[in-house]
Amino acid sequence: MIDRRTLLFGAAAAAVSAGTPAMAAETGAANCVWPPPNWQKNGFPSRRWVKILFVHTNERFNNFYTDEGKYIVPAVEQFSRTVRDFRANEWKMLDPRLMDLLFVLHWKYCKDEIRIFSGYRSEATNAHIEGAAKNSQHIQARALDIHLPNMDNDAVALDFRTFVFGGVGMYPGKQFTHMDMGNLRRWVG
Ligand SMILES: [Zn+2]
Repeated sequence: MIDRRTLLFGAAAAAVSAGTPAMAAETGAANCVWPPPNWQKNGFPSRRWVKILFVHTNERFNNFYTDEGKYIVPAVEQFSRTVRDFRANEWKMLDPRLMDLLFVLHWKYCKDEIRIFSGYRSEATNAHIEGAAKNSQHIQARALDIHLPNMDNDAVALDFRTFVFGGVGMYPGKQFTHMDMGNLRRWVG
């Protein structure tokens, strides 16, 4: 007979193991297999998580954001608030497919915490950023500027070009790579 304690322990164990592979990956490339064999067997995981640091405020998001393949709205909201327009202190619900992309990046590059340089930007803030496109996807809450720890941004941008289904911006000399859910575009900033 399965008692309540066993069920609770089982749930906790499942949560731990689901979050562990990318974290373990940081400590040894030998743990890293791309694509993960269980994705090949079972398909894209229905329970997904992301772990990020928003560099301007040092705030973090580290949680599951889907359950049984469905987006968990409060988690997507919490993520969106974390990568808000910190200058204007405004936020907008981000396109959650950006989180799916981050989840893939955790695994593809064996990275634990991903650094975010920009998420949503209000029109007023965007207008004051040098080099920002007037109709930037950041204003639509459909873009992220990111950095993968210990990786060259330009090399990452070149790889993104091969599989990111929206826009990819490469910014030589800057600290990040841009990706968005707009039309298929590639550029060097
Ligand atoms: Zn950007």
